[in-house]
Parts: sequence; structure tokens; C-alpha cells
Amino acid sequence: MQKNKNSISISIDDRVELLRVAYFLAIEDSIDTKIKPCKTDFYKQNYEIYKKYIKHPLVQKIGTGDEWNADLPTVALCLDKNLKPKENINFKEITEQFGWYGKNIDSLSKLLIDFKKTIAFKNDYNVNFKPFKDSLQSNKITEKLNRFYRTNKKTNLKILFDPLNRITNKAITFTNNPENERLFLITYLCDEPNNSTKPLELKWNEDYRRIVIHENSHIYTDALFEKYYDTKFDSLVNQEKFKNEYHDIDEIMVRGITAKILELNYGQKIGEDEINHQPKNSRIVYNYLNKYIKNDEMDFEQVYKEIMEQLKKKYN
Ligand SMILES: [Zn+2]
Repeated sequence: MQKNKNSISISIDDRVELLRVAYFLAIEDSIDTKIKPCKTDFYKQNYEIYKKYIKHPLVQKIGTGDEWNADLPTVALCLDKNLKPKENINFKEITEQFGWYGKNIDSLSKLLIDFKKTIAFKNDYNVNFKPFKDSLQSNKITEKLNRFYRTNKKTNLKILFDPLNRITNKAITFTNNPENERLFLITYLCDEPNNSTKPLELKWNEDYRRIVIHENSHIYTDALFEKYYDTKFDSLVNQEKFKNEYHDIDEIMVRGITAKILELNYGQKIGEDEINHQPKNSRIVYNYLNKYIKNDEMDFEQVYKEIMEQLKKKYN
């Protein structure tokens, strides 16, 4: 039997955080309270002190509102530690994901270098990751995922914690990661109200459990999506009659899969609660996976392919 040793790391990436600071300087005042950064000691020490730099050209650029996706700061992972563009950047992919910022990575690099200098950016973060990491390990998350996907690959799970971001989690698949490296960004979630400063404490809970399983599932299924979601399927999905219904097939798949993994590991009720909150076609995925569960001989690619065929029929 192959030895199955997995590693897990969690850290804060200062390139992402630098761009995150500029991002929130540009938009914090104009967004809903529910998605503003959590008021923590981290917020005070690593964000609030920079508020006087709101006129910096980078902040102004983001403020024009062309590309406001909350995952924008992850594009900084295409820069090296000196904030210069890395070699071998996948321009097509980052342009698709980040628009102007992907296409003009050189301009972004220059703006960020200047921003870092102007604000005298510090990155002496003091976050205790041990409780979170211990929980990931004791919950055997990687083992549960490998068991579900029927692979015994050794994986290196790299989590980038994004303490100001309360909006979006994201699997990072555009940075040419080594095959067994799974990289994703997670939010800091806080309970409302958000008007008094609290210490930042990253603790494992059911939300993070779902996020980690979901984002990992993107990484396990990314290549399969590329392989089985063809232009034909894409044109079916993008027909006028589906324009008001949720039709991101990658997400529909991953959300159904996540609900099934939750069900298998934590019980029927947890799985049902999860699938009830997902787009209706995710239930097709969720139900069809029972065929895979019952058949030990089936590999994951086979069931993925069959589910894609089932989904395709829904978009005729
Ligand atoms: Zn997703």
C-alpha cells in the first residue's frame, strides 16, 4: 500500500494582503455592512492605519469599479516576492479571471510596488494558526477527500488565510502549482454585529469545514471540468431561456459533490441541509453520486462524466 502522508500549511500571503488593503480602501465605504471586513485587532493594525492613502493611484484605479470581484487580490500570486511578474504566467487564464488586472500585470506590478513603499506596508502578522491546523488534522479532512475521490495521492494542502476578506473563498488554479499541491484562499468569518473590535481568532467550525471541502473539490475536479465541459455544453447553458437561473456548471457540480461528502462523513441531515441551500441542479449531482457510492469499482472520472451527461440533458 502506498504511504499516504499529507501535509497542511496555513499562512497569510503578504502580496495578497497588500492588494487586499488597496482593495478595501477603494470599496469598504460603498459595500453592505454584512461583507465589510471584521473589526479585529488585525484590522486595526494592518488596515486602519493605511486609511489616509485612499488617494493612491492603485486605490483610485480599483475605485473606478471595473473589476470588483472580491477575489481580485489573489492575482498578486502571479508576482514574485519583489512584486515583479513571474515568468510562465498563464495570461489567458488570468485575463479571463481578472480582466484589466490580468491583462496589465506589468502595470499592476508597478502600482503595487509604489503602493507598498508609499504606505510603508508592514507584514508582521501575529495570528495563531495552531488550533485551526490541529482541527484540520484531527478531522482527517485530506483523508476524507482522498477516500471520496478514490485516490491515494499524497497532497500538500496550502491554505492562504485572508483576514480582511469576509466575502469570498477561492481555489487557486492559475499559478501552475505542482500537481499535488492544493492552494486556496479562505475568508475570516465573524458574527454580527461588527461594530466593536474583537481579537482575531481563527477557529474551526462547520462553515470552514464546508469551505475547505468545497474549495478542495474544485482542485480535485478542475481538470475533469476542463475535459468534459465543452463548447457545445457551454452554448446550451448560455441559451436565453436559462439566463435567470443559476447556471455555472462547475459550481453546480462542486456544490452537489460537497453536499455528498458532508452527508457521507457527517450524516444524512447535514447532507440534506446543505443540498437544500444549493442551486436546484446540484441535486442531480447529489443524487447521481449514490450510484458511485454503491459501486466500489467505479472511478471518480467515470461518475463525473456521467453526471455531466445528465446535467447536459437539463439544458436542451
Ligand atoms: Zn466554488
